[in-house]
Amino acid sequence: MATLIAVYLGRTTVNRCDLKCYGARTEVAECECICDGMNHGVGLARAEANTRASSQDWIAASRASGLEFDGVEVCVGAQAEPLF
Ligand SMILES: [Zn+2]
Repeated sequence: MATLIAVYLGRTTVNRCDLKCYGARTEVAECECICDGMNHGVGLARAEANTRASSQDWIAASRASGLEFDGVEVCVGAQAEPLF
């Protein structure tokens, strides 16, 4: 299962966005993951683009909401485009 973005506290994943979200067939209101519904049900390609554009905002929003974490992992496909 491809995880697009995950935040950790030590070794524990405290929030993430993965196939359960971008592959979802349920209502977006049920989304509780770090993307706040942006990737919900949109499919992998779109979700990667959203994550590329918005992951820093999600991380900031998570911190602002009081979520404790000390590590962030963004999958390669959703990282910024390489320069070369
Ligand atoms: Zn998500």
